[in-house]
Amino acid sequence: MVLVMQADALFWDSLVFEGIDEVEVEAVTAAFGTVEVAAKGRAVAVACPDCGLISDRVHDRCQRRLKDLPLADQGFVIRLTVRRFICGSADCPRRTFAEPFSRLTVPHARFTTRLNPALERVGLALAGRAGTWLAAQLGLGAGRMTLLRRPWHCPIRDSVLHGCWAWTTSRSVAARPTPRS
Ligand SMILES: [Zn+2]
Repeated sequence: MVLVMQADALFWDSLVFEGIDEVEVEAVTAAFGTVEVAAKGRAVAVACPDCGLISDRVHDRCQRRLKDLPLADQGFVIRLTVRRFICGSADCPRRTFAEPFSRLTVPHARFTTRLNPALERVGLALAGRAGTWLAAQLGLGAGRMTLLRRPWHCPIRDSVLHGCWAWTTSRSVAARPTPRS
């Protein structure tokens, strides 16, 4: 069953995109344990990343599907409409460019930025099949390879690994038999 919840876009904006003012909600649907929000960029015009010229000429649109943090025990996905603008500068090497969503995600990512810390911690603690299982139980929905790659970008990686090393070292030292005098 698909339930369409378009009652109050402002409510969903404040609930889902608190602090992320670059996108707005178009529609919300819920089906089979997953809430999906259709969203688009708010900006009327966007600056070219190469020359800085502002453009409002839309070349085309595409859609990205971003996995996000679970919402009230439901899987949560953002179906984001991304516009590609035309750069009007004759001197610019770039002809078209996609609008950025720097607060929400990074280019080509399949996850929102705010989901990253959870994936990094699961990957750092378990990775592999156990991490995949836990991520599924928590509604994070990340695959094994994603979890294996995440810890390398995790800022707390070194402190956690050092803590694990210190813990195992102290245990092995404690377990070592005391030499007879
Ligand atoms: Zn340009």
